[in-house]
Amino acid sequence: MDPAAPPPTLALLDEQVTHCRACPRLVEWREEAARVKRKSYQDWDYWARPIPGFGPPDAALVLLGLAPAAHGGNRTGRIFTGDPSGDLLYATLYGLGLANRPESVRAGDGLELYGVRITDPVRCAPPENKPTPAERDTCRPWLVREFDFLRPTVRSMVALGGFAWQALLPVLAAAGYVLPRPRPAFGHGAHVVLPHSDGGPLLHLFGCYHVSPRNTYTGRLTTPMLRDLLATAAETAGLTVRR
Ligand code: SF4
Repeated sequence: MDPAAPPPTLALLDEQVTHCRACPRLVEWREEAARVKRKSYQDWDYWARPIPGFGPPDAALVLLGLAPAAHGGNRTGRIFTGDPSGDLLYATLYGLGLANRPESVRAGDGLELYGVRITDPVRCAPPENKPTPAERDTCRPWLVREFDFLRPTVRSMVALGGFAWQALLPVLAAAGYVLPRPRPAFGHGAHVVLPHSDGGPLLHLFGCYHVSPRNTYTGRLTTPMLRDLLATAAETAGLTVRR
């Protein structure tokens, strides 16, 4: 599948990406996870393909993660779904009034996001949740294409973790945003306002610790911290939230 050939709609892009096999190591890993399965998921028919972004094509707020988990998104077919990270993220969005239900179970379960889209810079589950720089770069055209569709409406982006932050900067530069030099550093609560070279609307980039158990179980990222940051990013994008 060639991400350089642009489809006419974001929905078609989402469909196209599910056929990508450009990274041999990740293709093998995502399919191996589906063959072996985790004991508690023996009844599941794993998705075992790339995971597209989730949320409306006219989102004002975009959240960027890292990559799907082998027994999470790679099993359920939806980003951030089927693992503790996603449980916290969707529950928080629901609490803010940005989703129609607090839980994401699997693709096609009826969950809707309001004005928010979630996506990843790497669409296939990597071993140990660590994609290589080459895999990140191979996957970048998919995010560039996705951002082409989102740019007319997106006003805030939240990078969940330093990997997302670093992966996003070249995508924003390619989209025409003027990045400061030196490049802004990731941190929880980092907030950078990016003008566009064509004089178009500003983009607000926020940094947030990733919602991984490593951060949440240790208290590095608490639910109030996440809720507060997402609320600020959403309001900055013009969305109404329940504070
Ligand atoms: Fe394709 Fe991205 Fe998956 Fe690599 S990580 S196989 S580029 S969808």
